[in-house]
Formats: sequence, C-alpha cells, structure tokens
Amino acid sequence: MSALHSDAAQTAELYILTEVTKTLITPLELPDLLKAVMDTIANVLETAEFGVVWLWDPSAGLLCPQVVCGPDFPHLQSLRQLKLREGESVAGKVFRDGKAVVFATPTDVANAMADLRPTNVAIWEQGLDSTIRPYSMIAVPLWAGGQEYGVLMLGTLHSSNYFAANDVSFIRILADLIALAIERHRLEREALTVSEAKQANRLRAEALAVLSHELRTSLGAIKGYSTALLMEETSWPQEKQHEFLLRIDEECESLEAMINGLLDSSLVDAGKFVLEYHPVRLERLAQEVADEAQYLTSTHSFVLDFPAGFPLIDADPLRVKQVLRNLVNNAIKYSPDGGLVSIRGEVRATDIVVSIADQGIGIASEHLISLFEKYFRVKTPSEYQIPGTGLGLPMTRAIVEAHEGKIWAESKLGEGTIFLFSLPLQESSSDEEIENG
Ligand code: ADP
Repeated sequence: MSALHSDAAQTAELYILTEVTKTLITPLELPDLLKAVMDTIANVLETAEFGVVWLWDPSAGLLCPQVVCGPDFPHLQSLRQLKLREGESVAGKVFRDGKAVVFATPTDVANAMADLRPTNVAIWEQGLDSTIRPYSMIAVPLWAGGQEYGVLMLGTLHSSNYFAANDVSFIRILADLIALAIERHRLEREALTVSEAKQANRLRAEALAVLSHELRTSLGAIKGYSTALLMEETSWPQEKQHEFLLRIDEECESLEAMINGLLDSSLVDAGKFVLEYHPVRLERLAQEVADEAQYLTSTHSFVLDFPAGFPLIDADPLRVKQVLRNLVNNAIKYSPDGGLVSIRGEVRATDIVVSIADQGIGIASEHLISLFEKYFRVKTPSEYQIPGTGLGLPMTRAIVEAHEGKIWAESKLGEGTIFLFSLPLQESSSDEEIENG
C-alpha cells in the first residue's frame, strides 16, 4: 500500500498541498524556488525519499536535472550532471509521451531504466552510492499553458515505502503547481525583456532627437554665415568676414565631433574596434586636453597632478586622448556654474589610475550603475538643460576596457563627480615617445 492512501489520506494530501503552495508563492528566483519546493515535498511526503525536477533545455535538446533532493549521500548532487535524451529512461519517456508513469517494484524501475546511456549509468550509480537501488518511482510531466517544461520524478529507496498507481492523480496536482510556478517565472522574464527593449528604444529615440537637433543647429549656423558672406548686395567689413568664417569653422568642428562620435559608437557595436599601441606619456596627453578645454570655458580652471617619474604606458594615444577629452568635456558640461577640474595620476602595483574630478551637479548614487550604458542620461533639472546623447561614456568605457583597464565613477549629488580609469602597467622599454596624441 502506498503511504498516501492510508486512513488519513485526505487530511494528509490537503496538508501537503498547503505546504507546497505556501513554498511556491515565496518570492525566490526559479532555481531556489524549485529547490525549496522539493525540500518541502521531501519533508511532508513520506514516500518522497528522493526527487528530481528535470527541465527541458530546448537549445541542447536534453532533459537536465534542475534540482535533486534525497538522502545525505556524498555524491548525490553529481546526479545533476545527468543529461537525458527525449525517450531515454524514465524521465525521457515521460517527457516524450506526455504521460505519467509509476513503477512499484525495483525490477520495474530497473527495466524502465535499462536504456540509460553508459555515461548516465556511471553518474547514476555514483550519485546513489552504487549499492542503493530505487525501490519504486513515479514520474509526471510538468505541463502549463500548453507547454511541457520537464518532468517531476519522485522515488522511494526502501521496501517499506512505495508509490502505486493510485498516487498518480495526487502527484499530478503537485506537478501542475510546480509547472505553473515555472510558467509564471518564464512570463515574468519575458515581460522584463520586453520592458527593457522598450526602455532601450525610448532612450535611443531621445538620443536621436537630441542629435538631429544639434546637427540641424550647427548646419543652420553654417548656412546662415555662408549665405551672409555670399550676399552680393552687402559688403561685410574684413573683421566681420573673419568672425563669420571663425564661426563656420567652429560649427564644422562640432559637426565633425558629433559624426565621429556616431561612427565610433557603430564601430564598437560592430566589434571593429582596433587599437594601435605606442608608448604614451599620459601626463602630456592630459596637459594637452586641459589646454584645449581651457579654450572652451572661462568659468573653469584646470589643475594637473601627476607624480614625478610617471611611467610610460603602452596604449593607443589617440584613443586614450579621446577618453581624457570625453571625461574633461563632461566635467565642464556638468558643472554649469564653473569650478575646478582636477586631473590626477596615481601609480599602483600593477596599473595606473587617472582621475578627473569636477565640482559640478554630481550624480545620485542610484544612477552611478547605469552611467556607462548606451543612451543613458540622468534627467537634469530643467534649469540646466544640458544637451547630450548618452554615447560618450559607453565609448569611453569601450576604449578603457579594450586596453584591459577599468572605469568607474564616484559622486555626491550637488557636490561634484570623480571619474577614474585604470590602465595596466607594462612600462614600455622603447624610447619612442608620442609627441602629440
Ligand atoms: P552625454 O553627456 O552626451 O549625455 P555621456 O555618455 O558622456 O553622454 O554621459 C552620460 C550621462 O552621465 C550624462 O547625460 C550625465 O547625466 C552623466 N554624467 C556624465 N559625466 C558627468 C559629470 N562629470 N557630472 C555629472 N553627470 C555626468
């Protein structure tokens, strides 16, 4: 007789269902949830001396154990290495046929497992301590929402306890509850992917809108100044002509920078990002970037602090300069009231760290994690309205990581931000120096 169909069967079944349902509604990730539910089943169902939740891996075309629970055998968890083909052994057949099975004697179990492939036999014998043989076994498909997710398999190890045909309907209810939990997790994952894709699309659309606005503004200015210069009826004084040409030149530079940014970003996307390594004097590059930046602003001042004898770094000078330029330009852009921008270098045991600190608007801690994602921008208060596309930092990170370095940020809202990046230290033996990044 199976333990389930004793006198108090109905009360026992109700108790088991309540306990399993209580476990299934706990907010756990799927692997932990399945583990918790199998532990509950093992605790409350006398016949469940060991159990396996098999999940179908569609990409591999195999059934793999997601959870194995049972006696305290030293190698029990090695059963998780089992991989069943559709139709192989007990679980494989249940999955293929979509029908529950029950084997009430050790001989029936052994017959049902006779087609187990040799690799799986070795894993099975090791996991169950070789001397122990399952006494009885029940296996039911995990079905929900018209999809078969895998198989719930329970077994006994002693003659005092066995599953019988009349246990199938109850175990099927347990399997349905487990399958519903698996289905719920799948749907939640799909919903998350859809909402992430929507968010990425929204950010991309916003960035494109900003970019087209900026391209149009620059083009509009170029067109305006050149049309003015070409007007035959007006003769502009020499000084004015020079000023118009200067503006045209500046706008062309900013157009070029925007287009280069876009091209760079698509190079990273296409994985066609090649570095040209040379020995680089970082402190010199930093000085050049600070000098360039000083032309752009009268409200910011720049200070450089690199220890004497700062080592030569093996890196792509153009790309490292781009990193410094992006970070210094952001430091200016996101400190609209001006202030000090400090560029510091530090030598550590295996790398160097460069930091760029500003006294600007700062970044709230919850945004620090997303800063380097493509198109991410912190919504700045409307009084600042700082234009940008959210493409600079992802590019900066791609360059640093291509050099096998790291980049991160520290910040206090309203007080300022420090961006830090490291580059591996491989002091260059060459005397060649890069004069101009
Ligand atoms: P963009 O400046 O074009 O928006 P970035 O990728 O360079 O793009 O920067 C992404 C976001 O990170 C910015 O929109 C801004 O919100 C934030 N950020 C970057 N640098 C700083 C800084 N120095 N201070 C405050 N916020 C910053």
